[in-house]
Amino acid sequence: MDLGISGKRALVCASSKGLGRGCAEALAEAGCTLVMNARSAGPLEQASGEISEAYGVEVTAIAGDITDPEGRAEVLDAAGPCDILVTNAGGPPPGYWTDWDRGDFIDALDGSMLSPIALMQALVPGMMERGWGRVVNITSRSVKAPLLPLGLSNAARSGLTGFVAGTSRQIADKGVTINNLLPGVHDTARIDQMDDVMAAQKGISRDEARKIRAAGIPAGRYGDPAEFGKMCAFLCSTHAGYIVGQNIVLDGGETFATI
Ligand code: NAP
Repeated sequence: MDLGISGKRALVCASSKGLGRGCAEALAEAGCTLVMNARSAGPLEQASGEISEAYGVEVTAIAGDITDPEGRAEVLDAAGPCDILVTNAGGPPPGYWTDWDRGDFIDALDGSMLSPIALMQALVPGMMERGWGRVVNITSRSVKAPLLPLGLSNAARSGLTGFVAGTSRQIADKGVTINNLLPGVHDTARIDQMDDVMAAQKGISRDEARKIRAAGIPAGRYGDPAEFGKMCAFLCSTHAGYIVGQNIVLDGGETFATI
């Protein structure tokens, strides 16, 4: 399927690895010009070089913390007007609800709610003026069903979800859509770390921990960042203009919910 977005300019935040990289690759495959971002310059340069070579598209790499106002301003300056925005960053740390003080909540809100909102406020007005745009926010299945150790994520990502629910409907008539992708367990460095924690707790190998985790997923496996990226690219396509303010769960069926 031709996604109809060849030549569009896409900013994909936090994209040197994992789900962000999956989105960057799929958009590059669709012919988009990319602006990629991550904090560490080395892996970012490597990823952007590989993607540019593989798909023959122009890729600009801007290292910086997308949750920090200065880092974000540098990325936005370098990116200029964009047709497509994919927001992403690392998630808040796990813990127990009595562990967290106001500062922890403010950090979580800054990273997982206010940062994507600031990116939308910077780029969506231009999309509206030009009459076309796509925003995809990478959130988490914790928005649909809470993950108990991730109370900071449950809270902050729900705030972003509420913002998107209203705002997406205020701008849809300008040809701009905003939707959220809610990942479940995907095969990324972040999940390797979680499997290592489980392995250490149970005195087993990472592979054994992975088998236990995968057995709890109806699909019987972890998600692939590449398939996640393809869904992102479809949401950014010309065919997805009637998908507005949705929360699409990509979790192999792990969230037991009827709708
Ligand atoms: P990952 O494999 O660890 O990759 C994270 C990417 O984001 C890296 O490129 C990292 O590069 C970059 N990054 C992290 N924080 C950043 C920041 N503040 N500014 C700029 N770049 C940043 O993680 P992932 O598994 O793809 O997860 C991405 C998001 O999805 C996270 O919010 C995570 O909580 C959420 N999620 C993931 C899963 C899953 O199964 N993988 C499930 C549910 C939710 P640098 O370290 O160099 O910055």
